[in-house]
Amino acid sequence: FKGLDSREQVGGLITFDDIGGQDSAIKELREALEFLLRPVEILEMGIRPLKGILLVGPPGTGKTLLARAAASYTKSSFLATSGSEFIEMYAGVGAKRVRQLFSEARKKARMSGKNSAILFIDELEVLGARRGSHQSHMEYDQTLNQLLVEMDGLMPDDETRLLVVGATNRADMLDPALLRPGRFDRQVMVSLPDKKGRIRILEIHTRNKPLADDVDMEDLGRVTFGFSGAHLESLANEAAILAFREGSKKIHHRHFREAVDKVILGEKLERTPTD
Ligand code: ATP
Repeated sequence: FKGLDSREQVGGLITFDDIGGQDSAIKELREALEFLLRPVEILEMGIRPLKGILLVGPPGTGKTLLARAAASYTKSSFLATSGSEFIEMYAGVGAKRVRQLFSEARKKARMSGKNSAILFIDELEVLGARRGSHQSHMEYDQTLNQLLVEMDGLMPDDETRLLVVGATNRADMLDPALLRPGRFDRQVMVSLPDKKGRIRILEIHTRNKPLADDVDMEDLGRVTFGFSGAHLESLANEAAILAFREGSKKIHHRHFREAVDKVILGEKLERTPTD
């Protein structure tokens, strides 16, 4: 499992300031994180502690970034995995991996200053598909059952606190048992960014790039309708490459406009074989 301490990540610490166009998701997530930040008060009020948060939205919108930022905001360790890592041919292996994952997360939590860890599971629908559906078979069902057992076993007065953050773009495929109280009982929508959000994301990804004065962010915000955060990151990178190839010291507006076409075209090419 990709067990990264949120403070030791390659590329540095991710904070909520590094995430653009997701203000309402960030607000909801921060509210939910109070559960990790103030466990004693939560317990004293008799509130059932939050065990799982589900981030729902299309690919590349920042779900992984949000989980990482949640870890640094709460000074928790961060452990990431993906539902597809649990696909196994042999019965029982997936379930065993789930057990190992939770025990690893507890170990990592003890290493963090706050005795807490965020366990991020991307592509949750792969291991959490409705039991008995054609997307699932017996082996997956055992894996999912084990995840439910582990989540049910998280107790409010546990010395180490674990929060499971799941991500999916297909909440409709999930087994309803996952969404019951005491499991993933908070859902946070992570949508494609609007124009203002797209501009903010471009600003974030050009922070360390030499921009020429003619770069018109308003225009770029307009022509990138439908772009995700991942597309915008790629746009900023492509524009820099185009400028570099030309021998230009700065990135001009035309480089960005040309890069918009490249990103759109790249997306089409990638999609052709499967769509
Ligand atoms: P997937 O569902 O494909 O796993 P995701 O929603 O988890 O995607 P991320 O992995 O968080 O998306 O995003 C991929 C990359 O795209 C990030 O590392 C970042 O560079 C960029 N990015 C995505 N969304 C944002 C955003 N809202 N703000 C800034 N950068 C973003």
